[in-house]
Amino acid sequence: MAKKELTSKMKNGYERITKAELKEMDDYCEQYMAFLDNGKTERECVTTAIALAEAKGFKKLERGMKLKAGDKVYYNNCGKNLNLAVIGKEALGANIVAAHIDSPRLDLKPQPLYEDHEMAYLKTHYYGGVRKYQWVTIPLELHGVVCLTDGTTVEVKIGEGNEPKLVITDLLPHLAQEQSKKPLSEAITGEGLTLLVGSVPVADKDVKERTKERVLEILNKKYGITEDDFISAELETVPSFDSTLVGLDGSLIGAYGHDDRVCAYAGLKAIFDIETPEKTAVLVMADKEEIGSVGLTGMISQNFENFINIITGGKADMYEYFEKSFCLSSDVTAAMDPLYADAFEDRNSAHINYGIGLCKYTGSRGKGGASDANAETVAKIRRIFDENGVVWQMAELGRIDLGGGGTVALDMSNRNIETIDAGVPVLSMHSPYEIVSKLDCYMTYKGCKAVYESK
Ligand code: MN
Ligand code: MN
Repeated sequence: MAKKELTSKMKNGYERITKAELKEMDDYCEQYMAFLDNGKTERECVTTAIALAEAKGFKKLERGMKLKAGDKVYYNNCGKNLNLAVIGKEALGANIVAAHIDSPRLDLKPQPLYEDHEMAYLKTHYYGGVRKYQWVTIPLELHGVVCLTDGTTVEVKIGEGNEPKLVITDLLPHLAQEQSKKPLSEAITGEGLTLLVGSVPVADKDVKERTKERVLEILNKKYGITEDDFISAELETVPSFDSTLVGLDGSLIGAYGHDDRVCAYAGLKAIFDIETPEKTAVLVMADKEEIGSVGLTGMISQNFENFINIITGGKADMYEYFEKSFCLSSDVTAAMDPLYADAFEDRNSAHINYGIGLCKYTGSRGKGGASDANAETVAKIRRIFDENGVVWQMAELGRIDLGGGGTVALDMSNRNIETIDAGVPVLSMHSPYEIVSKLDCYMTYKGCKAVYESK
């Protein structure tokens, strides 16, 4: 008897979830998958989230707006970072969920287009931590914007639906003996991540590079752009497939960009589903996390202070506001993968279907670069999750000294905001086709909602 009470009660979420919740989970995941399919870049995630938010009564935040408890607003930062709030009854302090909507991908270089052996190519510069070999021989699309000097912006989408795809070729095995001896990290190089985009020359024999010319003609016809316009563009190469269920039981979701849209969507759905909260509920959908949360649209940016300043009518003491705030830094964690068991320390790893993974710390080499949450903060989140039927587990990112990672937690705790990491465990993280469990997605939504409803 005593033993039963003393030992840990962690068990598979399917032994803890109710029947009614299973239905809710399926509905939730269907909506999440639609969100993913509409948002393959951070810009598309912002646009999609704004449309959903407006349908739920959120209004565009304007400086000088008089806000009262229950008001719902959003702030679009450069089209790449979105902050939302439901104003609470208390004047100072917010319950914040901070997730990111940028994902690893291959950005086009500023001068990407060239011709070689009468084939046309686009050069890329990878963004975030990609395993380069995973990006060859899969169908790819190009999404993004080209900004013209007249101030207009052209939206570009190439390869969607039944449109022709883009691809990065690989060497045939018959001739790959030398390449195959190289380490995985060197067999495919960064400069080698180059997209094949055309093979038919224009008829005019006076043109020097006729296949490249034809690609330019197609782009000009479709988008009105010229070669130099690539210089002021943000064009992102992303996998050309939508999310799917995975497994004979359909219990998993395979998709590009779960990291970290899976937590961003959990926060979005949670902020839609709350009544007027005690503390103001804030959702940050940050950009640039994958390259260090830098820049105007990253979590480091003072745009966050700007947002808080506007929602408080410029009246709040920012120091006091942050001191009274709490942040769930909601980012994915590594799910223990039995095929790569050596990379994990099983007892402290997140497991598929065990719920939202709580990370006291991330970092690498002795917690370096981590926001190591206080034990008091861990106790607080345990209580919030337990009181609200959130299936959760403890998560450490892999075996010590094997690597590591970070999140926006550091940027929030540096603001003197009490912060803890928690998010969905992912298999094949940062690959073009990441895997998460439906149960863990749903529990992350429940976790975010519980944080918003906490005092
Ligand atoms: Mn992430
Ligand atoms: Mn990541």
